[in-house]
Formats: sequence, structure tokens, C-alpha cells
Amino acid sequence: MEILFALVGLSIGALVNWLADKLPVYAHDPLRRPRRDRALCDFCGRPRWRLPWLPVVSTLWQGGRCPHCGAPLPLRDVLVQLGLAVVFAAIWARYAPAPLPIALASLYAALFMLIAVIDLEHRLILDVVILPAIGLALLVILVAPGWLSSLYDHNLQTLLEQQGRPGWLVGGVIGFVFFLLAWLLGQRLYGPGALGQGDIKLAAFIGLITGFPLVIIALVGGILAGGIISLVLVVTRLRSLRSAVPYGPFLILGAALALWSGAQIIQQWWGGLR
Ligand SMILES: [Zn+2]
Repeated sequence: MEILFALVGLSIGALVNWLADKLPVYAHDPLRRPRRDRALCDFCGRPRWRLPWLPVVSTLWQGGRCPHCGAPLPLRDVLVQLGLAVVFAAIWARYAPAPLPIALASLYAALFMLIAVIDLEHRLILDVVILPAIGLALLVILVAPGWLSSLYDHNLQTLLEQQGRPGWLVGGVIGFVFFLLAWLLGQRLYGPGALGQGDIKLAAFIGLITGFPLVIIALVGGILAGGIISLVLVVTRLRSLRSAVPYGPFLILGAALALWSGAQIIQQWWGGLR
């Protein structure tokens, strides 16, 4: 069954690739059509995959090259689809047969993948993606907050359900306020553009879906990941100290950590401190 669900991830990955091409263009100018067709080679303009309905298989089979001119094919399509296939298989292995956490975790995975790809390629977190996500999270908190806690083990679930709606909303506020302050500080220290306003909205969304206290793990995890990877990039001189690094993917790493292992982390820390 994991294999079957991995295939679902593979297909959702194709959808994410398609949206990651369309949405930035659409958000920039709704009337313009995307410049290029992803099914055609950038260099020779001929079909880039021998099996266009199976781009992953086709890319691997062709050795990552255009069959006509030999130009290298973009790896993003393959990485997104294979990445989601692996994540979906892991989700199934962990949560099956409970349908609610499977649906929720898969939705988060696809959404986070889309946001990360667009942020890495365009340094943008699009309102057309993040605002509906925030709206949907608020709606779920209002209507069925129990859905959001279905991802966790029994202890944490009980805690989150005792907190009820305020716990989720406080999480959103913490994410929002923390990144608003970071954004203001970044403006002061580095001038405009150090952090995007999209990062503030993304932090708010992550706070809403992780809730308190997991939002702390998400934020600390994201900041640590961002700090460590930025440091590596600066030390290896791939980036200068002042050049901006898109922050969305780091926030997403932190969120994934909180959603996937937050319960164990809390147990270890609080269990250890007591
Ligand atoms: Zn070609």
C-alpha cells in the first residue's frame, strides 16, 4: 500500500510542478501566458521527454538529457515528484489506516513543497498560495480543531484538545509576531528585502497548524536550519554575508520537524527537565 500511496505522491508532485510554473506568472500578470512550455526543451524547442506522461521515468531513462540535442533537463521536476513520493510513503507507513491524519499530512506536504519551490526559484511566497492556506487553517480551527491534533500521539493530542481553539490561535499569533519583529529588525539592519513579508504570513500559517507549544519547535528549528545552512554557504563562499537567502524553505523544515517529531521532542525535553 505504501507503494500505491507513493504513486499518489508522484502524481501530486506533477501537479505541484505545474502550479510552480503557472502561479508566479499568473500572480505577476494574470493575462500573460507562461513563456515556455515545460514539455519542450529550452534549447532546441522539441519535446524533451520520450514518455511525456511519465516525466520522472523519462528523465531518468534518458540520463537527464534532451533526446534531440543532449541539453541537460531541469532536475526540479524529478526532485519534486520523487521527494513527494517518498514523503507520501512515509506518511502512509506512519498513519495508515487513519484517513484524517493521512489527508492532512499529505496536504501539508504538497503545500509546503509548492511554497518551497516557488520561494527557491523566485524568492517569493505568493499571496495566492499562502492566504487561502491561512483562511483554510482558520476555518478548520473554527469548525473542527480536533482535526489538527489528529497527527499526534495520544498525550499531545489530549493536551492540544484541552487547550482547544485558543492554543491554535496563540500558535498563529506567536509565529506572526515573531517574524514581524524579525522582519522589522532585518529592515533596520540590512535594509528592505532581508526577509520578505511572505515569510511573516508563512510563519503565521505554520503557527496556526502547529499550535502552542509546537510552534516554538517549528520556529527554533527553522531558525537553526537557516542559521546553519547560511553559515555553511558563507563559509564555503557560495554566498556573501549580505546576500539574501530565501527563508521560506527553512521555516518549512522547522514546521516539518514540529509536525513529524514535535511530540517526541516535547516529551524528551519536558520529561528530562522534570
Ligand atoms: Zn533539446
